[in-house]
Amino acid sequence: MHPRLLSRRPIGINLPAYVRTHRLPHCRFSTVHDAPAQSSPALSNSVFEDAVQATAPRTNWTREEIASIYNTPLIELSYAAATVHRRFHNPAAIQMCTLMNIKTGGCSEDCSYCAQSSRYNTGLKATKMVDVESVLEAARVAKENGSSRFCMGAAWRDMRGRKTNLRNVKEMVKGVRAMGMEACVTLGMIDAEQAKELKDAGLTAYNHNVDTSREHYPSVITTRTYDERLATINNVREAGINVCTGGILGLGEKAKDHVGLILTVATLPSHPESFPVNALVPIKGTPLGESKIVSFDAILRTIATARLVLPGTIIRLAAGRNTMPEEKQVMCFMAGANAVFTGEKMLTTDCNGWEEDKAIFERWGLRPMETHKTIQGQRDLNAGSEVDISPSHIPESTAKPVSAAA
Ligand code: SF4
Repeated sequence: MHPRLLSRRPIGINLPAYVRTHRLPHCRFSTVHDAPAQSSPALSNSVFEDAVQATAPRTNWTREEIASIYNTPLIELSYAAATVHRRFHNPAAIQMCTLMNIKTGGCSEDCSYCAQSSRYNTGLKATKMVDVESVLEAARVAKENGSSRFCMGAAWRDMRGRKTNLRNVKEMVKGVRAMGMEACVTLGMIDAEQAKELKDAGLTAYNHNVDTSREHYPSVITTRTYDERLATINNVREAGINVCTGGILGLGEKAKDHVGLILTVATLPSHPESFPVNALVPIKGTPLGESKIVSFDAILRTIATARLVLPGTIIRLAAGRNTMPEEKQVMCFMAGANAVFTGEKMLTTDCNGWEEDKAIFERWGLRPMETHKTIQGQRDLNAGSEVDISPSHIPESTAKPVSAAA
């Protein structure tokens, strides 16, 4: 492990004066009623300030430390997250991804939120896998519209006995990479050999969400365990593919489960390249079809906490974004979210369209993230490299206004 990952207080940068002087009394104004874990104010202050000063990711987080950050008054938490975001990322750059379902429905798993499970009557028609050329045509359209990452999802439990499917997926990956785009797939559980084959095909990232905390997980899914999910994530990382893993908010969990979710990914051997934050879009016919929509402050709090705990990771504002007004989306970007799904659909749910996103980017001075930055830069950072905080490295967006790229 890189020695910096073990450091509790990375050196090399002083806490900005505005953070020191404007700190509010800890937890005084917290609105979280089911506080996940108590920690002393002294511990909370030092953990929070260490996180604000960090110049490298660390993987030795404790639940209490993450809880103390999560419970920081939201206005202060968001501001601190924005400060750290600017140190590790260009705050104007948002990764634009398009997610296509390459095999819809008919899944044997029982994920309580999912329209694609064959166990629930959601009205969704199962289809066969889409052919390679149709997928590549969709990727071309996504690229023309500004997406730099093309993600392909298949509703499978795992890849056992799916040799032909895997061959086709590899062709899709090669084709997407040949267009100069990043390629990501989500195919359920994979073993080490399958991960290696995908790596050899040029796969940039593999998505496999842990969904929620270890404690809440059995209330949501019973057909495969949390540890089986972590085993797939391990196979992906060992193969040298970037890991994309995150969760869904609104699965009936408590605030402590948001802490537990972040704890899981923050204590992996290296932080994931990407951490998707989804807000459940309840689907009629699923066990969670009548769920209450998760509150925006919980989404923002989770994003801001993740930004402080996973400073080098790309935080993906995923499902549910299209239900948020523009201002809420921008609050998430300010607090550290720096990737979105854009296009016609996001698996089976609606998605913000390219034109809508281009207009938002134009109004707020945002622009699509460049591909090479996400492939190598995040990998280096999450392997423990320190960020360059010299003046020459100040993101240009903070020096001059920018407009959305075409
Ligand atoms: S989330 Fe994935 S594994 Fe679970 S039911 Fe849906 S398609 Fe299957």
